[in-house]
Amino acid sequence: MATSAGSGVEVRSLEAKKGKGLYAKTHFKKEETILTEAPLVCAQFSWNELYKYEACEFCLRSLETAEEMSRRLTNNPSLVLPHPECCEVDSSVHTCCPHCQVKYCREACRVAAWDRYHRVLCMGASRDDSKHPLAMLQEAWRNIHYPPETASIMLLAKMVAMVRQNPDPSAVLQKFSQFVQTTVNENEQIAHKLLGKEFQTQLELLQGLAREALYHDDVQQWFTPEGFRSIFALIGTNGQGIGSSSISTWVKNCEKLSQGEKEKEEMDKFIDEMYEELDKEAGAFLNCDGSGLFELQSTCNHSCTPNAEINFLHGDHTLTLMALKDIEPDEEICISYLDECSLERSRHSRQNILRENYLFNCSCQLCLEQADEPDETSEEEMSEGDEEDEEEG
Ligand SMILES: [Zn+2]
Ligand SMILES: [Zn+2]
Ligand SMILES: [Zn+2]
Repeated sequence: MATSAGSGVEVRSLEAKKGKGLYAKTHFKKEETILTEAPLVCAQFSWNELYKYEACEFCLRSLETAEEMSRRLTNNPSLVLPHPECCEVDSSVHTCCPHCQVKYCREACRVAAWDRYHRVLCMGASRDDSKHPLAMLQEAWRNIHYPPETASIMLLAKMVAMVRQNPDPSAVLQKFSQFVQTTVNENEQIAHKLLGKEFQTQLELLQGLAREALYHDDVQQWFTPEGFRSIFALIGTNGQGIGSSSISTWVKNCEKLSQGEKEKEEMDKFIDEMYEELDKEAGAFLNCDGSGLFELQSTCNHSCTPNAEINFLHGDHTLTLMALKDIEPDEEICISYLDECSLERSRHSRQNILRENYLFNCSCQLCLEQADEPDETSEEEMSEGDEEDEEEG
């Protein structure tokens, strides 16, 4: 069975894997865009927001100018960026919710947020009240999930609000039901990392707070213990990371400037030095970060030798799926669920990460080829494991 999904691709049901897969219908050349997609729902990460990475509440577009953002992140208030015309941030079109003052990059985003979920979630004048149920839910979440963040409880809150606000709740529930939401891979008996025994108490705490903040009869099935676990697994396994930054947009535009050789050299030097400073002060935290649920992207299976990758080239939550090699019609389009660093690790390490986070045993081409390798854990993973143990203990 196949569902049509735009011009170049189709979603197919895969009996063997009891899941779906995204397949090419036409040829794609290396580096060609396969598709672009906006999420069904997305949310900024909680710590990221708390640390003043200012982003549009609806589309995650970075709201600081490149200069403001680079001053904050390098901790250098007198830093001046050349070519301010390369910064695309236009604060004159920024707007905010008149009730709670949460910020949007433009009126269209404010309206879309209000129409879809913000009517239910708007905290009005209580936005700074730490005893507001939504504030308590977010605080509890932050205490469980320290950076680097991989999911957001606000994604769950927005999903509930979307069902509650829609005149046809069952249609929205139907949309969310297409995402895999098994808490345990029944074939292989793998439980999601966030749903393990060690998180049992925190999960109960979150469920209680979520109920207080968001419960409604239309979504009662998400507030039973099993329902809550499954919706939690849904955002954990399907949530796609989203990153935006005014700085990287500025850099991209600077690279397009027609400049003389010498100017170009100077500019490159300036950018390199700025990134060194950024790296020193902010480390890996350079973006407005969040996660979202994408209907088509979520049908894309993992491979340790992927033929496509995901980028955010529009400065907001719009995802671009790009071919990493030439792709033939009928070929499955696969991305890597692992970051570049994890992808370099041993088969054993890669499979552990995939099992804990995505609940499957990888049987991609590369894993099959390496099946005879001994089960060695990469050194990086060992040291990371130690850190985790320390945090918990
Ligand atoms: Zn926006
Ligand atoms: Zn509001
Ligand atoms: Zn693999």
